[in-house]
Amino acid sequence: LPKIGVLAIQGDFDAHAAALREAGADSVLVRKPGELANVDGLILPGGESTTFLKFLERDGFLHALEDFVRNKPTFGTCAGCILLAKEVTRPAQQSLGVLDIAVERNAYGRQNDSVIEMSSTKLGGDPLELVYIRAPRIVKTGPGVAVLAEREGSPVLVEQDHIMAATFHPELSSDRRVHQRFVDLVRSRAAVKA
Ligand code: GLN
Repeated sequence: LPKIGVLAIQGDFDAHAAALREAGADSVLVRKPGELANVDGLILPGGESTTFLKFLERDGFLHALEDFVRNKPTFGTCAGCILLAKEVTRPAQQSLGVLDIAVERNAYGRQNDSVIEMSSTKLGGDPLELVYIRAPRIVKTGPGVAVLAEREGSPVLVEQDHIMAATFHPELSSDRRVHQRFVDLVRSRAAVKA
């Protein structure tokens, strides 16, 4: 089984770990930079991106993570998507910059800050349940970025090479198609290496 880490500093990491197991992966919680060496892929969960950054500044975690995301499959959801983005606004903030998108934080406003919608996607099959919690909006995508789902004309699920990102929370729905796609991505990358 592919071994996939979930950054377990803050946020909904347990739900992601369970979702990965349901999608056929072995999941482990990553709490220290050294633990990145033991995983084939990584999920950066939702939560509060500023809190993640504060924590990551310790023990060279941010540098280890920069190295990891440049080379290994990584999936960022919500705050995790913000961490992967090349450009972050409202307010501007540091990021790993490995995914060619610009995101605006908390972009849907107070009224709309938690929403569940059914949406058709490029994953195939029936519409997918998408759970948004204080979601960022992807306002720009580079030429190498594939858009797999949209909301109000903005991408909400994207893919670029070995990177995936969602502005919603797939771990909070019972449908496993999104995690399955990431597990498949990790598998295909591991096969290239072997
Ligand atoms: N609003 C959060 C941020 O800016 C993200 C919200 C989430 O991950 N659910 O980091």
